[in-house]
Amino acid sequence: MTRQSLVAANWKMYGTWTGVNNILATIKQGLAQNAGGEVAIFPPFVYLAKVARLLHGTKITSGAQDICSVTGEGAHTGEVSGVMLRDVGCRYVIVGHSERRTLYGETDTMVARKFFAAQEAGLVPILCVGEQLDERESEQTEAVIARQLDVILEHPGGVASLAKAVIAYEPVWAIGTGKTATPAQAQAVHAFIRGKIAAHDQPIAEKIRILYGGSVKSTNAADLFAMPDIDGGLIGGASLDAPQFLEICRAAR
Ligand code: PEP
Repeated sequence: MTRQSLVAANWKMYGTWTGVNNILATIKQGLAQNAGGEVAIFPPFVYLAKVARLLHGTKITSGAQDICSVTGEGAHTGEVSGVMLRDVGCRYVIVGHSERRTLYGETDTMVARKFFAAQEAGLVPILCVGEQLDERESEQTEAVIARQLDVILEHPGGVASLAKAVIAYEPVWAIGTGKTATPAQAQAVHAFIRGKIAAHDQPIAEKIRILYGGSVKSTNAADLFAMPDIDGGLIGGASLDAPQFLEICRAAR
């Protein structure tokens, strides 16, 4: 089955409005003739509305790097809800990024709550899964990924929810380190993820997009994206370099 590729730019907590605006202008111009693959931008929260406005009328979509709150509106000082993200133009939201899991103590259960809260608000969650280096070295990669997926799959309606979601496999040891999984290593885990979903629902497994993230650069993107179960990328550092990001987008088409 052919799946439309998705390349997602995770800008993390970088930039000021001037910088964000400049990168966006270059990306917009570079993708003006874009046919085929989808591209989505994930700026910091405070720039979401402005970015969505600037992307209006283009084929580029946008999303948030996290859904803070799993509740509806209310007295929750400092929080942001899924409905608000949708309201300012987000299509996607990243949930369970490894930086949220490791730096902010997000557990699998919290990630699952965020995943379903996002869908309830009309957002498409991008669920990040991935193993730490010691877990890979002790051959626990599949067990870790299975555990991170099971919180969704074992939830009532969980398998069906994957029909409106994206998965990002991001080995933690490859994020921001310059170390990339080889195409064969990444493909093996992507195939494992798709196989695990297929055990529950074959058509959903064939349809779901599984992105690779972890030090993707213009120099390694094409080889990674050539793998049969890799449907695009979640790009951190290289997405802040507009010309390089554009090359990565081209590699995904
Ligand atoms: C990420 O933040 O999801 C990521 C993959 O970062 P980088 O591309 O910098 O490794």
